[in-house]
Amino acid sequence: MLITAKHLLAIIALVLCGTAAAALIAEWNDIGAVLATLLVPAFLGWPVFRLLSLRPLILPMCPHCERRHCNYHVPRDAWPVAVLLCAWCGKPLRLVLRTGADPVPPSEVPTITLRRPGFLGLWRKADLTS
Ligand SMILES: [Zn+2]
Repeated sequence: MLITAKHLLAIIALVLCGTAAAALIAEWNDIGAVLATLLVPAFLGWPVFRLLSLRPLILPMCPHCERRHCNYHVPRDAWPVAVLLCAWCGKPLRLVLRTGADPVPPSEVPTITLRRPGFLGLWRKADLTS
């Protein structure tokens, strides 16, 4: 996990939004307030990260050498599909930076995509059969 100052500010803002929602709901329901504290950041996290062009918190593993990438930056014009070259073995990896059910275009390059909530960086191999 690699957190920049932008990541830290976005996370603090999300936690504050969750806390504010919990404070509003706490007047009626304590369990709802606890859920709001957790669910508001979970649902708003990925849209906020995309809006700010922030990469997910957990970096992907290279499928060739099984080592975790050190860091990467995806420019706005490459979003939502980017190809990374592994810093350790030099082989390519394609990242699909979206969490929707839209099919991933086929490619010869090993492809991984995000699981929800996308801002955490829970990666899985893309299903390219469709
Ligand atoms: Zn590698």
